[in-house]
Amino acid sequence: MLDGSDFGAKLKAGVFVNEVFDGGSWMAHKIIAEDCIACGSCAAECPTEAICEAKDCYVINTKACNDCGSCKEVCPQECIEGPEK
Ligand code: SF4
Ligand code: SF4
Repeated sequence: MLDGSDFGAKLKAGVFVNEVFDGGSWMAHKIIAEDCIACGSCAAECPTEAICEAKDCYVINTKACNDCGSCKEVCPQECIEGPEK
């Protein structure tokens, strides 16, 4: 399991951490880094400030994401996926 410090360290290193195994199920929305054009639209919509800019794309902090789906609705690249149910 990744904790907050792991996320921060990997973000600084340019490693994208879009998923976390949390309590037995895969949680949170995630950005497909290869398709992201770093427009920032998703971050502007996020009510929990879970999305931040990383190296060449944006990433979602899974610990802060509440799965509201607002980011997915505004992404022009359609490169944000919801959690598997
Ligand atoms: S699903 Fe909602 S809370 Fe999660 S990153 Fe997207 S806008 Fe933020
Ligand atoms: S809205 Fe989509 S393309 Fe724009 S920064 Fe977010 S994930 Fe990337």
